[in-house]
Amino acid sequence: MTTDRTKGEVWGFAGQEDGRLSDVPRELLGKGRELADRLGVSLAAVLMGDGVEGLAPLLFEAGADKVHLVEDPALKVFRGKAYRHAMVELIKECSPQIVIFGATHMGRDLAPAVASALRCGLTADCTDLQIGDYADNKKKGEDGSPTIVKNVLQQIRPAFGGNIIATIVNPYNWPQMATVREGVMKPLAPQPGRTGEIVRHDSRLAGVDIPVEVVEIVRRHSTVNLKGSRIIVAGGAGVGSKENFKLLHELADALGGAVGGSRAAVDLGYCEHERQIGQTGVTVRPALFISCGISGAVQHLAGMQDSAKIIAINTDKDAPIFKVAHYGIVGDLNVVIPKLVKAIKKG
Ligand SMILES: Cc1cc2nc3c(=O)[nH]c(=O)nc-3n(C[C@H](O)[C@H](O)[C@H](O)COP(=O)(O)OP(=O)(O)OC[C@H]3O[C@@H](n4cnc5c(N)ncnc54)[C@H](O)[C@@H]3O)c2cc1C
Repeated sequence: MTTDRTKGEVWGFAGQEDGRLSDVPRELLGKGRELADRLGVSLAAVLMGDGVEGLAPLLFEAGADKVHLVEDPALKVFRGKAYRHAMVELIKECSPQIVIFGATHMGRDLAPAVASALRCGLTADCTDLQIGDYADNKKKGEDGSPTIVKNVLQQIRPAFGGNIIATIVNPYNWPQMATVREGVMKPLAPQPGRTGEIVRHDSRLAGVDIPVEVVEIVRRHSTVNLKGSRIIVAGGAGVGSKENFKLLHELADALGGAVGGSRAAVDLGYCEHERQIGQTGVTVRPALFISCGISGAVQHLAGMQDSAKIIAINTDKDAPIFKVAHYGIVGDLNVVIPKLVKAIKKG
């Protein structure tokens, strides 16, 4: 028996803040484009807010064929219940087959609430999404062969502490929903002038009691911009102390780069949490990544192994980081980094 359920659009949630889009919607639309083309359906962005229609052209340029626009003063600032209600109603109205969210603060709040309301399931923090067939051995046909559900979303993510890569499917309770880690999917090159259709929808929030009132928004601007850096110097437990992390800053300054760290470095208080790279930190893909005193655990590699060039400095010649490094220096970072800084400053 074969079922083909390739109807319904692919959606990417275009979360905005203060009328601005981050890179995440573009990343979702980059992957969404690939999925929609494979399925032969439209790719739509869902844009919610108040007075945000002006963002639609950016979403078309990023690959969307359509923008589902829901505007309401109650959606001006993200509040879980209002966004959940509007999103659930929109999904019921349009029946997309796939909905993907960024694993941002907003997406991590909204996606599970929507999935729970629709009882459709959700895979969080995916590192890849593909389309493929699923053989359901629990549903056998008369000839004893499994039911083949065609063109399901394969939701791929590390599981069991990153020790395996799991492929998760939801063949029946659609829409298939996933959140995707920031920085993991590649956006398409912007296509200036590309246009599409804007479909306006009622928020259906009239009469809905929203118990949260936003009184004030206090922002703390991060001084760390790992995702935007072409060169990253990252340190791990092997750096030995917070004081010694200054060595990494010296090297990063000499190269015009930024400083990142492993989770162990963060847990030991050597650097701030916003510098953490890996499965539970940021995902980076710089032109040059210099790894200093980092062993190369899978959870760390998940956030940096796609860097264009990786140089690793480690005293242990068998450290797993050398398996992904393009250049390896077996040595003490306290000796190697000052030499590098000196050489770079000499030009
Ligand atoms: C669910 C889960 C999520 C996680 N998420 C992340 C994550 O996002 N990011 C992350 O990084 N980790 C993450 N981890 C932790 C991860 O498993 C490792 O524990 C961590 O990455 C180890 O950090 P490290 O390499 O700095 O420390 P270690 O593993 O202790 O390695 C230190 C390295 O420094 C080398 N060294 C020591 N002295 C020197 C020296 N003087 N010069 C040069 N080299 C030296 C040693 O040979 C060693 O290889 C996660 C773990 C779990 C279970």
